[in-house]
Amino acid sequence: MASGHYFDNRKVVIATKHQKEEVIGPVLKEAFGMEPIILEDFDTDVLGTFTGEVERILSPMEAAREKCVLALAQCDADIAIGSEGSFGPHPTLYFLPADEEYLVLLDRKNELEITVKSCSLQTNYASFEMDSEVKVADFLQQVKFPSHGLHVKSSGGYIEKGITSENQLNEAIKAAVNRFGNYTLETDMRAMNNPTRMSVIQELTQKLVEKMKRCCPSCQRPGFSPTDVIRGLVCSCCSLPTKSVKAVIYTCEGCHYTQCIDFPDSKMTEDPMFCDFCNP
Ligand SMILES: [Zn+2]
Ligand SMILES: [Zn+2]
Repeated sequence: MASGHYFDNRKVVIATKHQKEEVIGPVLKEAFGMEPIILEDFDTDVLGTFTGEVERILSPMEAAREKCVLALAQCDADIAIGSEGSFGPHPTLYFLPADEEYLVLLDRKNELEITVKSCSLQTNYASFEMDSEVKVADFLQQVKFPSHGLHVKSSGGYIEKGITSENQLNEAIKAAVNRFGNYTLETDMRAMNNPTRMSVIQELTQKLVEKMKRCCPSCQRPGFSPTDVIRGLVCSCCSLPTKSVKAVIYTCEGCHYTQCIDFPDSKMTEDPMFCDFCNP
């Protein structure tokens, strides 16, 4: 059964102050005819800022959920979408910067929560220190300035944030050097000044829509999704079990119905290359 009766044409408040509704809204509108609304003066900085004025104590997923709760308390919509990002070294490719994004959908009418996350290498997250071996011009090109914003910092703190013009940048660097003798450039990771991050959020919204459309075969609740895997796909050469996935378990959060999907990648056996016996 389709999830249309849950989401079609409903009002959804997008809990953001950084213009993320520009990418989230159209995707939901196209998929379900939902009507996106935003709140004037909605402030999410109380939950933490990238530039550290307010430390985020919640996990990114909790922060995204809390944004939904705050937004729902301020309007008559029953559905909210909250978003949160986190930047740093990739969890497995340590030397590469990554953008971890989280989206939470909260439907208080149906007591439904659907979450998605992604970890993308598509990010300009970086910083530059005065007297670095890299040329500042190369750094600016690398981080896609001025289409992507920058903050100028010094040992005395932030000089200026959200810079998107060369003049502004030069003035801020001059000010930092005059007053503190040093400067650091930081990429602005707020969505409105970071088109790369915007596109990652757009892709994640597509993933959210896919999940919203998948319903439990037993109770039709949307958000039916993988919760566990079973490993042990057999080797095509020696027939011993490998560490590869042989089945995926789907669980309904509503009625706890579970479904086991065998051979999710349509692969019945594993290549001996991944077998501990054939290729230890
Ligand atoms: Zn169910
Ligand atoms: Zn083998």
